[in-house]
Amino acid sequence: MGLVSAKEMLDIAYKNNYAVGQFNINNLEWTKAVLLTAEENKSPVILGVSEGAAKYMAGYKVVADMVKAMVESLNITVPVALHLDHGSYEGAKKAIEAGFSSIMFDGSHYAIEENIKLTKDMVSRTRALGISLEAEVGAIGGEEDGVVGNGEVADPAECKLIADLGVDFLAAGIGNIHGKYPANWQGLNFDVLNEINKVTGDTPLVLHGGTGIPADMIKRAISMGVSKINVNTECQLVFAAATRKYIEEGLDLVGKGFDPRKLLGPGTQAIKNVVKEKMELFGSVNKA
Ligand SMILES: [Zn+2]
Repeated sequence: MGLVSAKEMLDIAYKNNYAVGQFNINNLEWTKAVLLTAEENKSPVILGVSEGAAKYMAGYKVVADMVKAMVESLNITVPVALHLDHGSYEGAKKAIEAGFSSIMFDGSHYAIEENIKLTKDMVSRTRALGISLEAEVGAIGGEEDGVVGNGEVADPAECKLIADLGVDFLAAGIGNIHGKYPANWQGLNFDVLNEINKVTGDTPLVLHGGTGIPADMIKRAISMGVSKINVNTECQLVFAAATRKYIEEGLDLVGKGFDPRKLLGPGTQAIKNVVKEKMELFGSVNKA
């Protein structure tokens, strides 16, 4: 199966009260780890690529071609969407052209009128090609590619305005934060989530900043319309820790332990473990 839009998998997840994970990728090992884990657990999966990660991997086309070829070479049969994470207007156009099957256009930093105007334009661009579209309302806290938010909570009325444009799924701040959560974090705002879910009809909701949110809050959010959860930082942390351990134990100095295929092995396995754990928590195992 080639790449698919994320619309169908998220509509099904929304109706059946589970969520599909978006796992951000940074290189070949990351991609392979996520795809193999999805296949092993018969779970639909979304590969997230930020503009920064796409640039790091030498461009959108490199990423799209690598993912497509890997899905084919590894005989991946579960639905796989390749999704631009926090895309700008220009970045979204480039990712569409390169063959991404899903796009997030993040107009949350614009005034609501401008966000509506640009999101509307993106709805028509993506719909014509069968590509799914995620839009965002209100800033989400933390830092992503240098953009800092304040952990803001979205206005449900604005959420309705954006959802009514026909976006396939919607990211809205409910007190979630990108990166590591501070010790004094107040938790997710379920009153606002409930209200957003009510006014946006059947539009699946997206929870960004999935690293470090307690399991019970994740489950409660899923029961209130969250059908896509983004995981990025957690994979980075376990990859770094496993690689650090390998080197600190001196294993790179034993035999051909310096070979990147060995050196990057423990980190890759650590990503696989996290992805499996998240798929179990989100309820997407055996849903493909
Ligand atoms: Zn995000």
